[in-house]
Amino acid sequence: MNRAYSIAEEYERIREKNKNELEYRKSLLYSKIPRLKEIDEELIKLGIDITKTILSKPENSDILVRELQNRQLDLKIEKAEILTSNNYPKDYLNMKYNCNTCKDTGFADNKKCSCYIQKEINHLYVQSDLGDIMKKENFEQFRWEYYSDEIIDDNISPKENMKLIYKKCVDFVKDFDDINTNMLFIGRPGLGKTFLCSSIAKDLLDVGKSVIYKTVSDLIDIVRKYKFDFENEEINEQYLDEIYNCDLLIIDDLGTELSTQFSSLVLYSILNKRIQNNKKMIISTNLDIDEFTKIYSDRITSRIFGCFDTLEFLGEDIRLKMHKLI
Ligand SMILES: [Zn+2]
Repeated sequence: MNRAYSIAEEYERIREKNKNELEYRKSLLYSKIPRLKEIDEELIKLGIDITKTILSKPENSDILVRELQNRQLDLKIEKAEILTSNNYPKDYLNMKYNCNTCKDTGFADNKKCSCYIQKEINHLYVQSDLGDIMKKENFEQFRWEYYSDEIIDDNISPKENMKLIYKKCVDFVKDFDDINTNMLFIGRPGLGKTFLCSSIAKDLLDVGKSVIYKTVSDLIDIVRKYKFDFENEEINEQYLDEIYNCDLLIIDDLGTELSTQFSSLVLYSILNKRIQNNKKMIISTNLDIDEFTKIYSDRITSRIFGCFDTLEFLGEDIRLKMHKLI
């Protein structure tokens, strides 16, 4: 479904719901305190009279408008007094908005409101593959049986190694607000890196954190579009800002991007800004440490190895094992 279209529908539903709730509050109070209904009706009539006076511009229109406005004010004060003396908040019969800035229209000052941008970001994830992956992949679904007990490298079995990594990931989510940890998932494909990334993303999104989960190529593409594709209306400054400021940025598949001067500039600036702002990141890569240092400049490798906890995934490709078991 077209994203702009479904966001517009979402606003329509919000407005509809708030309108219905207001009607309900009105019907309840009007029958209880009929004077309130009279006041509201008179306020509507006054509003119309003011508009008419302004448009028809009679000689003494200023004085007339002021008189009508004074009458409006008196009625509003009377209404507020009735409400408070009956133990209702004085704005009880006003429309409630989910967002006061744009009054649930999505736009303020001819610009997308910040609540609209947030919805776009949410939609991005709902509509991306992550939405489907996350339904299947979360901490509870973790399949320990695919990891061998046999001790290999570093005197540890893949299963023992995975237990340590798994615990780090669970703690990362649990202590998210109190820690300043970045994690680098390193290891061959098919060892559960993506699985753990999406489990972390899911649990944090569930508690209302903003998470962006993108491959490195997608991230670079977003910045490229913002900087050079002026026709593109989808990616604006606020959108780009999320990459630098969202609660968690997960960069998937580092090392698969086309390596250019621009890509390394973008990568460095994302890493650097987020580290400076104490914003957490998880990077996942199939490269080993030697390959890593060959591909990336010193300033990028020093940012990553200096500011990230490196977690090395060990074992055989579990996706192959899964096929064997089926
Ligand atoms: Zn808004």
